[in-house]
Amino acid sequence: MQSLEPFYEKKLVCAFCDKPFNTLRVKSRFAIPYQVDSDFCPHYRTGNYNPHFYFVNVCPECGFAFSEEFSDKFPLGSKEVIRVKITMHWKKRSFGQVRDVQQALESYQLAILAGSLKKEKNAVLAGLCLRLAWIYRAENNLEKEKRFLGLALNAYEESFIHSDFAGTSMSELKTMFMIGELSRRLGQYQKALGYFSKLVQHKNADAEPKMVNRAREQWRVVAEENRQGGIQE
Ligand SMILES: [Zn+2]
Repeated sequence: MQSLEPFYEKKLVCAFCDKPFNTLRVKSRFAIPYQVDSDFCPHYRTGNYNPHFYFVNVCPECGFAFSEEFSDKFPLGSKEVIRVKITMHWKKRSFGQVRDVQQALESYQLAILAGSLKKEKNAVLAGLCLRLAWIYRAENNLEKEKRFLGLALNAYEESFIHSDFAGTSMSELKTMFMIGELSRRLGQYQKALGYFSKLVQHKNADAEPKMVNRAREQWRVVAEENRQGGIQE
């Protein structure tokens, strides 16, 4: 018989202080979205468990927070900076139980700080900012959602310029799609049109037909929004 328990416990070792700790993950069959937005934001019914609440691991000992996408390398000097900026202020507490929205939000703030201090790839930081924006969207906090969509957009643009998506779950085309789509959502229509057009004509377009179709669809959406005279940048 399958367990009705929606969570499973994962054993981890802190990438910063090497101490072991446990964290929860939502089993995939308890996290089936009923709707996915054009920027890939999944929506879950009330009473379901949002896996994004458990995307970030927080070490209870030192406060270092990371996702599975973080590299295990610390650039020279970054450990000392993390010690001063995070660990020295950390009041020991566990994020290893069922999280409420406040704990989920805090876990992302911690991971964005830790990831910035250890100079994680922009593609990884963008993914954290995007998921944080999605939590605010579910909470109907439009102002905070836009703030973090903006930070995700900046990070995806940096990632695109420096091609630092290599070795992550992002491809060049998906990065371009996200720049287009987040620009559209933030009212930057010309930029959105530019990236969707570039994506459709990209030399790798044949390899990712789904992404190309999405870009075509969203190009039409943004062209219509632009015609209706939205805010221009
Ligand atoms: Zn630690």
